Amino acid sequence: MDCIFCKIARRQLPAKIVYEDDDVVAFNDINPQAPVHVLVIPRKHIPRVADMVESDQQLMGKIIYTGKRVAEMLGICEEGFRLVFNNGRYGGQHVYHIHLHVLGGRPMGWPPG
Ligand code: 5GP
Ligand code: ZN
Repeated sequence: MDCIFCKIARRQLPAKIVYEDDDVVAFNDINPQAPVHVLVIPRKHIPRVADMVESDQQLMGKIIYTGKRVAEMLGICEEGFRLVFNNGRYGGQHVYHIHLHVLGGRPMGWPPG
């Protein structure tokens, strides 16, 4: 698959990987928006949340759980953090391989832009 996040998952493109297993990969965002900014992806190429099928539910639950584990590992769990899935053009999605943003290390504003 000619997709930058598939290539990161296959280690064909460099990234600072903070966690990986058979199902998911977590790596530092190349353009961090907070002191901690990690992306958690499934190895399976799902373009958007809008493309999820029923059988993806367990995998996507694991993505969120991995986000929590990453937050613990990187010491932002107790202060708080933000988990974000951007979806599609109006959702601000730029890379069409589903990914969870894990943002922390500073207070977050609301509403998002
Ligand atoms: P989106 O806008 O699709 O929700 O988020 C895409 C994220 O991927 C952005 O935060 C962007 O900085 C990050 N990103 C784009 N290309 C690369 C890359 O090649 N490597 C890494 N580590 N992050 C990337
Ligand atoms: Zn992909």
